Amino acid sequence: QARKRFGQNFLHDPGVIEKIVRAIHPKPDETIVEIGPGLGALTEELLQANPRLQVVELDRDLIPVLRTKFFNYPDLQIHEADALSFDFRQLMTDGPLRIVGNLPYNISTPLIFHLLEQAGVVRDMHFMLQKEVVQRLAAQAGDNHYGRLGIMAQYFCRVQPLFEVGPGAFRPAPKVASAIVRLVPHEQLPHPTKDLKTLQAVVRTAFNARRKTLRKALASLITVEQLQALGINDGLRPENLTLADYVHIADFLFEHSGENSNEVSDD
Ligand code: SAM
Repeated sequence: QARKRFGQNFLHDPGVIEKIVRAIHPKPDETIVEIGPGLGALTEELLQANPRLQVVELDRDLIPVLRTKFFNYPDLQIHEADALSFDFRQLMTDGPLRIVGNLPYNISTPLIFHLLEQAGVVRDMHFMLQKEVVQRLAAQAGDNHYGRLGIMAQYFCRVQPLFEVGPGAFRPAPKVASAIVRLVPHEQLPHPTKDLKTLQAVVRTAFNARRKTLRKALASLITVEQLQALGINDGLRPENLTLADYVHIADFLFEHSGENSNEVSDD
C-alpha cells in the first residue's frame, strides 16, 4: 500500500524504467546514490550495471522489503534516513557522486535546494519530478516558470530536461505529468557571487513580490539610484532579470553591506 505522506508513486512501466536508466548510463565502479528507492524498481535496473550503489529511504517499512529483494547484492548499502537532512558528502569515497531518484513530489523543491548546497561532491543528478518543477528548473528570464528554483539551480548546475513520463507509468498514478531532468554541477561557476547568502536573500526578496516592479520588490535592500548606477532598469519585474543581474545586485550589496542601513536578512 503506497503512502501518500511519503509521496509514494511507484514506477511499474519497464519501458520507462529502462529509458531512465539508459539516460543515467551507470557504469561499474561509479558511486551512485538513489534517493527514495521505494520497492526498488529503479534500484533493480541500476544494479544491472554493477555500480557501487547506495540508497536512502525514509519509510522504515520499506527497508526490510528492500533487504529481502536485494539479498543477492550484499554490496548494496541501504540507509534508513531522511534525504532532506542527509549529508551526502559522507557517501563519497573516491570520485564524485551520481545522484538519482524518482523523488517524492511533496518535498522535491526543498530537497533540490538541499542537494544544490552539496553540489561540490556531485558529478550529476537525474531526477523524476513533476513536469512543472522541471520547467521551473530550466526556465530562463522572462519565461512563465522563471523564479528562485531555476535561478539557484542554474547558479550551480547546467539544467537539461530529458523527457516526459505520463501518469500511467506509476502506481498509484499521480495527478500530474512528470519529467526526467539532468543537473550537472558546473566545473566553474559561470556567475560566481562574492556571497551566496546575499544572492539567496536578494532572489528570495525579489520573488516574494514577483508581480511588482524591481524598484518596489527590492525597496528594502537597494535604492532606485543604486539600481540605476548598476545599469539595471528599476521598472522591470523580478522575472525579467537574469542570473548575472542578480549576482551583480548581490555583490554590490555585499560590498556595501557596512554602509547600508537596511541589512540583508536571510529568512
Ligand atoms: N524509486 C521508487 C520508484 O520509482 O518506484 C519510489 C519513488 S516514490 C515517488 C518516492 C520514494 O521516496 C518513496 O519510496 C518514499 O518512501 C521515499 N521518500 C519520501 N520522503 C523521503 C525522504 N525525506 N527521504 C528519503 N526518501 C523519502
